Amino acid sequence: SYLGRFRASVAEHDAVADSPRRTQDRSTEVPVVGTAFRNEPDTDPSLGANRDWARRAVGAAPAVVGAPELTDPADVDAVVDRAAASTWRDVPPAERARLLRGAARSLAVARTDLLTTMVHEAGKTVAEADPEISEAVDFAAYYADRALELDPERFTPARVVVVTPPWNFPVAIPLGGCLAALTAGAAVVIKPAPQVRACAEVGVAALHAAGIPADALQLVHTDEGDAGRRLVTHPDVERVVLTGASETAALFRSWRPDLAVVAETSGKNALVITPAADPDLAVADLVRSAFGHAGQKCSAASLAILVGSVADPRSKVGRRFRRQLLDAVRTLRVGPGTDLSSTMGPLVGELSPKLERALTTLEPGESWLVEPRRVEVGTWTPGVREGVAPGSWFHLTECFGPVLGLMSATTLDEAIELQNATGYGLTGGLHSLDRDEVEHWMERVEVGNAYVNRHITGAIVQRQSFGGWKGSVVGPGAKPGGPNYVAQFGTWADVAMPE
Ligand code: GLU
Repeated sequence: SYLGRFRASVAEHDAVADSPRRTQDRSTEVPVVGTAFRNEPDTDPSLGANRDWARRAVGAAPAVVGAPELTDPADVDAVVDRAAASTWRDVPPAERARLLRGAARSLAVARTDLLTTMVHEAGKTVAEADPEISEAVDFAAYYADRALELDPERFTPARVVVVTPPWNFPVAIPLGGCLAALTAGAAVVIKPAPQVRACAEVGVAALHAAGIPADALQLVHTDEGDAGRRLVTHPDVERVVLTGASETAALFRSWRPDLAVVAETSGKNALVITPAADPDLAVADLVRSAFGHAGQKCSAASLAILVGSVADPRSKVGRRFRRQLLDAVRTLRVGPGTDLSSTMGPLVGELSPKLERALTTLEPGESWLVEPRRVEVGTWTPGVREGVAPGSWFHLTECFGPVLGLMSATTLDEAIELQNATGYGLTGGLHSLDRDEVEHWMERVEVGNAYVNRHITGAIVQRQSFGGWKGSVVGPGAKPGGPNYVAQFGTWADVAMPE
């Protein structure tokens, strides 16, 4: 059974716990002032021992083999009833915090199994999968501290919270939702995305191994048909955590108008690059933001808005930028995560009509700087379209894949206008070393996560709580990995939950 294997891996974990894993990227050296919380370090790939570990992990058989069975729609009610009857809500906050800290350790122990499963089932490369495991560990440890902030006199946990995560972050997002609700004292039913059920099974098993009771955290495998509807409309379900398309949030609301949905939805994110940028850094961050996990992130950069001379192919700055971008994109190695030299993995699931259009069809005035190519079913090389016009289809449509569009702006103000015009507001970036430009942009950009001189994906718990505004959020909008997220999973004696 998985639990048996899990116990064996505790010993293995403890044996290597002192080995160097730490990377600079997660900035574990510099704690946030006034807090004891430390981010979990990623595995440092520059160390040979860690590369050997990764090679063994991707070569191993996944811990959960095959697709778990679908839950019978007739059983869904019983699952929710069992959650509603759980005594988890009566566990004192200090004890909940202790169990959550245990869950953090348990997830750290499960790193190898999680990595194996993510690479095989979710098409992730090790470089994408490993930090996601750190993020899940972070959620558990960070939320554990929040349990102690909930005043039991004033706060009543939601009875049951349903978590409906997407497939693109098959570990951090599902577990983050579960851990937040559990911290609040709510029982949880999680319905994983169908493409990545085994990842959820492994993650949930690790939480159970840490002592989270089976009735307080249950898995169901359903589709969005009858069973999904039963889940969302069950009267004991008081909150639904959704990360996914805006249409899904609307569907849930159509099933149940009074439902409190905590949702992070779509995005169409841009990175602005001005002539005051460090060009090397800007190109590296742009490529990482656009093509990490083949662009299948809500946070991904799908537009680069080039300002002034950067946009002008006849200027020295513009020429250099394009050459560097071209070289960097062509250097990406597309292949499966099981091949450690792959730097971009395959697409997950069927090609959506939007992504197919983005990969194959140009709009008037556009041309390919790098034309995407289909390597095999589900695998495409990255594409860069030039000349994306203001208000055009590609400017305004989230495509969720490895296609980047270049837009031009004469001034920073014009760039901000283009960036804010999409209707969404999830992530956004600026590359500029000019302080005045940075301040000007920060005051005007309309996104939940605004990044300066950094890639615009990979938000880090506590440092960059993650979430949007405008078309990218439904519900009160407190962000995962931030101070107020847990407090949404219940009611406060003197505070109403905003619509
Ligand atoms: N939290 C992830 C990031 O910062 C994105 C999550 C998503 O795509 O939904 O990159």
